[in-house]
Amino acid sequence: MRFHIITIFPDIFDSYLNESILGRAIKEKHVSVKFYNPRDYVKAQNKNNYKPVDDRPYGGGPGMVMRPEPILKAVEKAISTISKISSGPRSGARPAQKFSNRLNKNKIQIINFIPSAEKFTTIEAKKISKKYTDIILICGRYEGIDARVDKILKTKKYSIGDYVLTGGELPAMVLIDCIARQIPGVLGKYESLEEERVSSSEVYTRPEILKYNNKNYRVPKVLLSGNHAEVEKWKKTH
Ligand code: SAM
Repeated sequence: MRFHIITIFPDIFDSYLNESILGRAIKEKHVSVKFYNPRDYVKAQNKNNYKPVDDRPYGGGPGMVMRPEPILKAVEKAISTISKISSGPRSGARPAQKFSNRLNKNKIQIINFIPSAEKFTTIEAKKISKKYTDIILICGRYEGIDARVDKILKTKKYSIGDYVLTGGELPAMVLIDCIARQIPGVLGKYESLEEERVSSSEVYTRPEILKYNNKNYRVPKVLLSGNHAEVEKWKKTH
């Protein structure tokens, strides 16, 4: 699975993608992540190399809106990179008007994030992991991106929860993490087994009795009983 991230803040991803299960998945080439910065497609407007990717909203209102052209150009770059990877180094870039054909042929899904959109779930992650080879994730900032981008690219829109974040970078990391877990080889054997089991979110480890502020906190007796049927029953309800 290849993830292509459209973001003006690529450094945000560094630490999360390089550690633990995701870091290993990238090292072992189960997953790859590439970045495309919309700012790279904007001409500098003054001597200080100022490259604005946002502008004032039509109709007024507070906050700025991400301009459509830099995002569309960054997505085009991602699609031509995917075409090159999929058909070998000799194919070269193809013209923009073949865009929709290229999407279908290469099993590409383009995703935009909107706080009020359909919720992203593990069921969605499973579907995506089976259906697509390349996911393009557009990370909005400010008040979001110009709505014509969604119309032109026919993006799939997801929310990761009923709250408003500063940008789409955290939602993109959430999707990558959740989808990557569905890719064969990403989770170790033990972790995969855990994923399939009926599992409880209430878990305990040593010590059996935790002393804290003069109080004893015990592990539930059933988990120490050795009675597997009872343990499984407990796990289903906790
Ligand atoms: N005014 C926008 C609205 O109400 O939809 C919110 C803009 S928010 C400050 C900036 C960007 O962060 C959004 O365009 C979206 O890409 C992302 N974002 C914020 N919260 C999100 C959430 N709960 N789920 C998915 N994306 C989110």
